[in-house]
Amino acid sequence: MKIFCNGKIADSDSEVIRALDRGMIFGDGIYDVVKVVDGIFPFLEDHVKRLERSAIFFGMKLRYDLEKIKNVARELSVLNGVKNGELFLELTRGYDEIRDHIFGEKYEPTFLEIVQPLRKIDPILWKKGAKLVTFPDMRHGLCEHKTINLLPNVLAKNHAHSKGAYEALMFRMEDGKKYVTEGGSSSYIFFDGKRVVAPKIENILPSITRSKVLSIVKDMGVEVTERRVWLDEVWHMKEVILLSTVSKVMPVVQIDDTSFELGEMTKRLMEAFEDLILTQRTKIS
Ligand code: PLP
Repeated sequence: MKIFCNGKIADSDSEVIRALDRGMIFGDGIYDVVKVVDGIFPFLEDHVKRLERSAIFFGMKLRYDLEKIKNVARELSVLNGVKNGELFLELTRGYDEIRDHIFGEKYEPTFLEIVQPLRKIDPILWKKGAKLVTFPDMRHGLCEHKTINLLPNVLAKNHAHSKGAYEALMFRMEDGKKYVTEGGSSSYIFFDGKRVVAPKIENILPSITRSKVLSIVKDMGVEVTERRVWLDEVWHMKEVILLSTVSKVMPVVQIDDTSFELGEMTKRLMEAFEDLILTQRTKIS
């Protein structure tokens, strides 16, 4: 497989990252994931804007613009024969001459672009629904950015996997009460029978899929409430919906030992989101 690193196309197993890259040494970097659908990249602009916002926030230099990133993605998609897959973008603060937490003036950012086939997800999950398990959110205070510090997310997803579940539903505590945040690599929204309730963006990722789906909900004339969602409330929700670039809109039918129905709201959102991706295809091609 071919990848793009700092202006060059290289083999994915070649040693293009230097040992003293701050991404390697400190996890000093950010990333984003875009879906590849029939050779196009739905919502690429939103993903690059999110990456740019985080780059500015952390004082990193993103030296490529949207057009260059798109052209490289197209090239990799052709070179790797991947028409349907995932585009991965990563920016680290880059190479520094000596290992030091304090970054110097003269660092060279590392930018990596990968186009790979879709990870294996059983299609039955979109038909029958996914299972989640609750797991403590052990992350830091920078979760509104896609930082590469993903160890707690990796642990959460692997815990879920070991229990035969698709994802974790992470929670944090306040005054002894649990409130839900997000998954290892997914967002959640809930339907209480009247309105769609979304955990508000307080130290969770402003998910692109979430924002697209909440717009669809509003366009349907259904009320959206963004607020803290307590785990105790979740057990009484009618429908639970998982959202992410890779998983799109996926029904959830079980959390721990509690079952949920795969209801009409979820079905309508799955359909509407597929339609939205289709409009992206006609817009770009
Ligand atoms: N939350 C986390 C922690 C994620 O890592 C992701 C995606 O990887 C999401 C939510 C979903 O975000 P998006 O819809 O932008 O893919």
